[in-house]
Formats: sequence, C-alpha cells, structure tokens
Amino acid sequence: MKLSELLKQDKLSISFEVFPPKNDTAFESVRFATEEIAKLSPSFMSVTYGAGGGTSRYTLDIAKNIKANYGVPTLAHLTCVSSTKDTVHQKIEQMREAGIENVMALRGDLTPELEGSDRSAWAYRHAVDLIRELREYGSEFCIGGACYPEIHPESANQKEDIKYLKEKVDAGCSFLTTQMFFDNNLLYNFLYKIREAGITVPIIPGIMPITNANQVSRAIKLSGSFMPQRFKSLVDKFGSNPDAMKQAGIAYATDQIIDLFANGITNVHVYSMNKPDVAAAIQRNLSDILGK
Ligand code: FAD
Repeated sequence: MKLSELLKQDKLSISFEVFPPKNDTAFESVRFATEEIAKLSPSFMSVTYGAGGGTSRYTLDIAKNIKANYGVPTLAHLTCVSSTKDTVHQKIEQMREAGIENVMALRGDLTPELEGSDRSAWAYRHAVDLIRELREYGSEFCIGGACYPEIHPESANQKEDIKYLKEKVDAGCSFLTTQMFFDNNLLYNFLYKIREAGITVPIIPGIMPITNANQVSRAIKLSGSFMPQRFKSLVDKFGSNPDAMKQAGIAYATDQIIDLFANGITNVHVYSMNKPDVAAAIQRNLSDILGK
C-alpha cells in the first residue's frame, strides 16, 4: 500500500522504524527482531539504509520479508550522497523488482572524506536530486523525505531550511518524516511555519523512546535535539537503574504520542531501535487509543 493513501485515513496509528544488520552474523537476530515488531501490525515499517555506520545490503531483504510474510506496508530508505548514479539506479531497479512501493529519499550524512572532496564532482548533492530521479518512474513510487523541526545541522537558519524543504516537496515528496524531537512544541511551531510556506503534505512526527542513559548523548549528537528539563530530570533520577529508565523512557515517549494525537496528528513514527519489547510496550500503552 502506498503511504500517501494510508496517510489519508483518519484512524490514529503508529508505525515503527527498524535498521538492517551491520554484518552477516547479525542478520538472523535483526530479522527476528523486525518480525516480532511486524507482528504488532503497525500501520507501516520503515527500514533504514546504512544509517549510523551500518551497511545498505540488507535494507531490501528486511523490507521484502516484512511485507511478504507479515503484510505490513514498508518504506525502504535510500541515500545518495556517497553513491554513483549507477549504484543508485541499480538500487532503484532492485526496489521495483521487489515490489517496494514506498521510498524514503535521503541525501545521507556527510563523511569526513566526502566533506573534504570536490562537491562539483558528486553525482548527488542533495536529497532533491534523488527525488527528481525517483519521480521519473511516474507514480510507481510514493516518495518521502526527511524534515527537521529543529533545523538541519548544516542549515544557516530555519527560513533557508524550509525553502529547501519546499523544493523537495515540489520535486515529488508525498510526505515528510521528522527528525526525533523531545519537546512537542518545537513540532507545532515547525508545522505552523511550513504550512505558512505552502508545504501541505502529511508530516509524520518521529519519536525516539530513550530507554537507557547511554542513548541520550548519542541521540543528541546525531540529531542536535533539544532536551527539555523534564526529560533531563528523568534521566538524572532513573539513568542508573536500567529497568526504571526503560519504563520512564517508554512513558515519556507515550506521553509525547498522546499529545500529538490530541493535537491532530494521525500517524506517529516510532524509532524502535529494533527493540520489540519497547515497541510492544508503547503499543500496549496506547491500546484503547489505537483500538488494538
Ligand atoms: P537534504 O534534504 O539534502 O538536506 C541536507 C542539507 O542541505 C540541509 O541543510 C538542507 O537545508 C540543505 N539543502 C537541501 N537542498 C538544498 C539545495 N538544493 N541547495 C542548498 N542546500 C540544500 N541517514 C542514512 O544514512 N540512512 C537512513 O536511512 C536515514 N534515515 C533518516 C530518516 C529520517 C526521518 C531523518 C530525519 C534522517 C535520516 N537519515 C538517514 C539522516 C539523513 O541522511 C541526514 O540527516 C542527512 O544529513 C540529510 O539528509 P536529507 O535527506 O535531509 O538531506
């Protein structure tokens, strides 16, 4: 199912993000975790592409398995900045053959080597270059893009960031998924500004349940997200007790999701970090709200 259709529904839902294994050894355990998450019947599952140092090899395998064996619509991520045109075109063909209907078109992070290289020689400089190519396949793919309620770290200011975001939407994005955030007011401010800029596609807020204290610094480093005092107090109090921290992190994420639903959002994407127990606990907390 195309996500553009799914996102038209008024029914409240959650979806989960999973990431592929980094090597062959981890494949079976990651496949098992993603299958356990698929059994929760989320509205869809996204599978990242080589994010955080992983490899891209298994994105398609995991996405195909979830779709074929569990009937869960999938969103396969694809990055372009460190790739040649040939590699990207090959990946797109493989997605077509696998029947993948939804693609998250991303630039990808800049590695130190890339940052030092001649940008004019890059096959792809921004996500919009990939979106334009995917659009050439007509309506075959429903294309998503990333957006940043707290501004992309490389952007000079929010106005510029939103200008380029509009360019991605105009090029063919049917929906946008946000970077993680821990203060919903940042999302509401962002929504106001992008709607004012003429961006009308559905926005899927991305929520990261922080379930251990070590995750905090990593999450901030990756996303540059603002940590509200309420969240910092929770980590101070429970960070040294793994079970308590997990419970508190799940409760915090649940709270964020309920507030988003109460304010008009219909689908929230949960960065599950391949943890079926965390995904299940959040879904359980929302059982009456989701009607599950
Ligand atoms: P872009 O949209 O290209 O934006 C990057 C920067 O360039 C921004 O500052 C933007 O304002 C600017 N810009 C955009 N267009 C132009 C233009 N035409 N001219 C000048 N400046 C421009 N990474 C992975 O490796 N794998 C994944 O699976 C993955 N999944 C993600 C999912 C989500 C929901 C999010 C939010 C991020 C994900 N990332 C992933 C990380 C992402 O690749 C990085 O954040 C990356 O730095 C930017 O990607 P982008 O697609 O947003 O880039």
